[in-house]
Amino acid sequence: MKKIGIIICDRYRGCGGGKCFRALRERAGAFARYAKDEQVEVVGYSTCGGCPGGNIEYVPEEMIKNGAEAIHLATGFVVGYPPCPYLEDFKKFIETRYKIPVVIGTHPIPLKYLVVHEKLPFWKRSKMDELAGGLMAESREIMESYN
Ligand code: SF4
Repeated sequence: MKKIGIIICDRYRGCGGGKCFRALRERAGAFARYAKDEQVEVVGYSTCGGCPGGNIEYVPEEMIKNGAEAIHLATGFVVGYPPCPYLEDFKKFIETRYKIPVVIGTHPIPLKYLVVHEKLPFWKRSKMDELAGGLMAESREIMESYN
């Protein structure tokens, strides 16, 4: 049994989580790291609190108290226009302060977002290939199925 927490970008605070929970069930996107026969429980779900991410300081503590062994920064951090400018800082802060691994991403990047991002100058600047490598390695067919 693996326990995880999910933090989403506050720009999508009204999101019902459909793609994240589907991807967890299908072990797609950043959830491909978990074996299909391993049970994964979401023990915390919150937003960053809005720019510049006030909840990042405290929300991981609550998730860890509930047993979280990893924290996922949802795919919305990556696919927003522009991507969250604090993504790398949040990952480093949480890992340093709370000593828990932070995974960038939840569900696969919907292909319709990626094709636009690839035409935009901030995509390369944001080092997504490096930061969100797992998501970028997903097949385009699966990305398209998450449009
Ligand atoms: S862009 Fe970053 S800091 Fe701003 S709301 Fe989204 S996740 Fe939070």
